[in-house]
Amino acid sequence: MGQRLGQHFLHRRVYLEKITAAVAPAGTVIEIGAGQGALTEHLLEIANRVIAIELDPELVTHLIVRFAGNPKLKVVAGDILKTDLTQWGPATVVGNLPYYITSPVIERTLAMGRLLEKAVFLIQKEVGDRLLAKPGTRDYGFLTVTTQMFAEPKLVAKVPPSAFNPPPKVDSAVIKLTPRDASEHPPDPTPLIAFIGLCFRQKRKTLRNNLAPFFGNERVDSLPEAGKRAEQLTLTEFRKLYDQLVAAG
Ligand code: SAM
Repeated sequence: MGQRLGQHFLHRRVYLEKITAAVAPAGTVIEIGAGQGALTEHLLEIANRVIAIELDPELVTHLIVRFAGNPKLKVVAGDILKTDLTQWGPATVVGNLPYYITSPVIERTLAMGRLLEKAVFLIQKEVGDRLLAKPGTRDYGFLTVTTQMFAEPKLVAKVPPSAFNPPPKVDSAVIKLTPRDASEHPPDPTPLIAFIGLCFRQKRKTLRNNLAPFFGNERVDSLPEAGKRAEQLTLTEFRKLYDQLVAAG
């Protein structure tokens, strides 16, 4: 399995501690891809309960043996992309993520809505830059806007390849996501996320080009932002546009 499952084990203590400090204090923690349990051990010290999800059966066995008898830990054998993250109630989601599924994991985490207390992820630095990006910059795109619409991202630490075994080919970063007040966004986020997707359909094209096929030339042309590209819009402008074109019917 190994590399295919994005297995790069974090061994440098200072980063394990930085992730743990960003998580604390915590009630229920869902750890994604617990691996050999390096981070799990630290999380067990600061959380009331840790749900450790791992896909590789050998590592699942390793985790069960390593933490045998610890009543705070529940090891779940399975694929994070097929696991209902809301089944344990309000929770903090943490992980040194398998990089091949970073975007869907972030999407599923944000889709927990009010049950998400916070998230702390170790991801490729390049993806971290996208989460933190400002409007009008190269990194600002669909992942940026959907993440920032629902959570506030913060850089916790940059992590070099040498902190892992085996080292990945890219630099990494720890990012903390703090959910925004639920009253700031619609109860069902799905249509808003789909709308943001339409705005970024062809990133280099104007909103007029991307939205007119769905909402009609006349309505789209009446908007002051029609000549802009999605990558130039602030979160507030996206929300205003959504309210005018979708929520208003
Ligand atoms: N948490 C450990 C650490 O920091 O050393 C391991 C992190 S390693 C980057 C990612 C882990 O996720 C691996 O143990 C891998 O087997 C597991 N994994 C990969 N794909 C997964 C999936 N779809 N669902 C759950 N775990 C997965």
